[in-house]
Amino acid sequence: MTELPARRLLLVHAHPDDESINNGATMAKYAAEGAHVTLVTCTLGERGEVIPPELAHLAGTALGEYRLRELTAAMSELGVEDFRLLGGVGRYRDSGMMGLADNDDAACFWQADVDEAAARLVEVIREVRPQVLITYDPDGGYGHPDHIQAHRVAQRAAELAAAEGLPIAKIYWNRVPRTVAEKAFAGLQEDLSGLPFPRAATLDDVPGVVDDERVTTEIDGTAYAAAKAAAMRAHVTQIDVAEPYFALSNELAQPVFTTEYYELVRGERDRARETDLFAGIEEAS
Ligand SMILES: [Zn+2]
Repeated sequence: MTELPARRLLLVHAHPDDESINNGATMAKYAAEGAHVTLVTCTLGERGEVIPPELAHLAGTALGEYRLRELTAAMSELGVEDFRLLGGVGRYRDSGMMGLADNDDAACFWQADVDEAAARLVEVIREVRPQVLITYDPDGGYGHPDHIQAHRVAQRAAELAAAEGLPIAKIYWNRVPRTVAEKAFAGLQEDLSGLPFPRAATLDDVPGVVDDERVTTEIDGTAYAAAKAAAMRAHVTQIDVAEPYFALSNELAQPVFTTEYYELVRGERDRARETDLFAGIEEAS
């Protein structure tokens, strides 16, 4: 086997842009520190709504192709070289928001067989041997079918890999501590009049908000705030950034979090609140 880098981080996301919004600072930090960062994105986000009017004609396959270029640009901003689409480009189609007829498309990710999709992720795990996996909680953070399915596939892949002797030492879910979110939204209300967004989002619009005590880990990404904002901006069709805020196609302003938070759901914690995803992991490969 070729020699593996000492630290190896795998992230599993539903659509291009989720990685930059949730984990942009974390990805930039670990990549800069020499970790091998692998992003697996499950769909191209072909059902996403397009923000810029001049790109509004993009839909379906054309939007997917465009979003792959956005993802490529975002990864360049974060310094992440290893990013892949689950099963290859175009294997799984965006399922659209929960309850839409798009959910029934046989080619969409929501309709994918979890074991089959997980087997494709296990191929990546065999190759990069991650010690740390980041994905969503069972609700996908906010109930989008592709996010729920990404969670299921990631968890199942970790089980399958463990069964063949390749356990992933630590698994994290994306989180935001409630008090952190509340404070950020209080500031947002004061700043709103100076922003290019008509209205503010609410706490309910932020995926993964939980009571503070569930949060086990915080990654200070202050030094990578600019990289995160640049990566988010690279997702031109999906995100409008006005630091330290951004909006999705609903035009609701919400905070950009440069400290990113996680809940450790598998693996031992070595401190009250971790500040390193690899804490407690021996770095031998
Ligand atoms: Zn998404």
